[in-house]
Amino acid sequence: MTVHPILERQIRKYLPEGFDIDLLQPFLQAVNSRYESQERDKQLSEHAFAISEREYQDVYQNLKEQNEISRQSVEKLKCALSKLDQRFSANYDDASDLMRVVNDITTLAEQTRILKIELESAKESAEQLAKAKGNFLSVMSHEIRTPLNAIIGNIHLLEGEPYLQEQESLLRSLRISSHSLLSLINDILDFSKIDEGKVSFNERNMSLSEILHNLREAHSFKAMENRNKVQVWFDASIPPNLIGDESRLNQIMNNLIGNAIKFTQNGTISIAASLVANNPRDARVRFSVTDTGIGIENSKQSLIFERFTQANSDIDRKYGGSGLGLTIVKRLLELWGSKIELQSEPGQGSTFQFELEFRKGTSASQRLTKAAGGDLSGLRILVVEDTEYNVKVAERMLTHWKATVDVAVNGQVAVDKCKTSTYDAILMDIQMPVMDGITATRTIRMFNQQVPIIAVSASAAEVHDDVVAAGMSDSVAKPFNPHDFFDVVFKWTRTGT
Ligand code: ADP
Repeated sequence: MTVHPILERQIRKYLPEGFDIDLLQPFLQAVNSRYESQERDKQLSEHAFAISEREYQDVYQNLKEQNEISRQSVEKLKCALSKLDQRFSANYDDASDLMRVVNDITTLAEQTRILKIELESAKESAEQLAKAKGNFLSVMSHEIRTPLNAIIGNIHLLEGEPYLQEQESLLRSLRISSHSLLSLINDILDFSKIDEGKVSFNERNMSLSEILHNLREAHSFKAMENRNKVQVWFDASIPPNLIGDESRLNQIMNNLIGNAIKFTQNGTISIAASLVANNPRDARVRFSVTDTGIGIENSKQSLIFERFTQANSDIDRKYGGSGLGLTIVKRLLELWGSKIELQSEPGQGSTFQFELEFRKGTSASQRLTKAAGGDLSGLRILVVEDTEYNVKVAERMLTHWKATVDVAVNGQVAVDKCKTSTYDAILMDIQMPVMDGITATRTIRMFNQQVPIIAVSASAAEVHDDVVAAGMSDSVAKPFNPHDFFDVVFKWTRTGT
């Protein structure tokens, strides 16, 4: 038997020497096993204690870390809140401020909610204001452009009649002034439309070479006045049929070419188009307008694209202009996904350039070349227009081109006439009493889908989408340029497209 050390010590201490231990054997065995079991229990409880001590240490460490993370988070929140609003920083000077942070966040959330409501209502008011401004401009455009149409049309007719030699300069000055008034009105209207993002781009077949040559032709008279030469450089590898918005491209180029001619004397204006990329479905073209004129100082080069800004007020007063042209060009190109670039040297000249991407057209260009001479003989045209002056202008132009003209003073009369007579084309004003042009077109389209209906509107640019949706074939702006007017009627009556 292995004797437990305590029992061994007790035997030695209490039993006399020479005592026969065997006599107490069963008793000593019982005591010994008791000591041993006590010893095992002690070791077990010591082991258990060591384990729970370790667990406690782990939990404690964990808690400490969590606490630190939470403290740092509160600090960061406090810092963020103080940055958001100075008022909150005064609150945080002791350690136990989680509740304060929570309160401040709640305050901030509430303030943000109120601010959002206020912002939404401010946005609504601004939108209403913009709409009112747009409506005002659209009404004004009609009010100003309708009589201007009569003035420009009559000047054109007067120029076609015999007149006295001394009346020539008066007529010329009338024409120039009325055209500059018209372009100013168009610029202001266009700018406000572009500013509101209300511009859409048409997708039509067009021929870039034709557009560039027409631009040169259109500007040749003005260029001659300043003794300038206008030349066109057209890259022959540009695909002949591209799809894009011809009138927007014309508007951009007209502005750039007009400026180039205005700011150049005895010089050369080069209009160029070159192919940058040719893919199976689309082509990228770089356009440029270069002049050898007065040029623009480096410091003014970005300013001139801002609205109503001119590079040199003394020089510009001499040349005239609204300071809106380049702003319109820049914004239009941005909306078209492009960018205007300028290189210029004072005294040397300027180059404005930009790139555009066009889808390729599938059919041959259906554009018509300008019809010289103007012959619409054999055609019967219905002019739907409530303003007497405008009726007279359209009537005289159409009869000058040998067409037969019938007149309807509003949409309702036009609908009635179309039920009993046949026309080759209808020229439809948009804003009229009794029945407007859009309603009249919708009604006519119910029983006649073939007749070409051309919108003649004082605010042509903004109504184009509406007139197409109503079933009209095309649109022409009032006051109309007699050539555009002729072209559009010719196009829809002779080709049937
Ligand atoms: P504006 O109606 O005054 O011509 P623009 O926006 O078209 O307005 O042009 C702004 C200004 O930029 C012009 O007034 C002129 O100072 C300058 N500018 C534009 N094009 C040219 C150019 N080709 N040569 C020199 N200066 C130019």
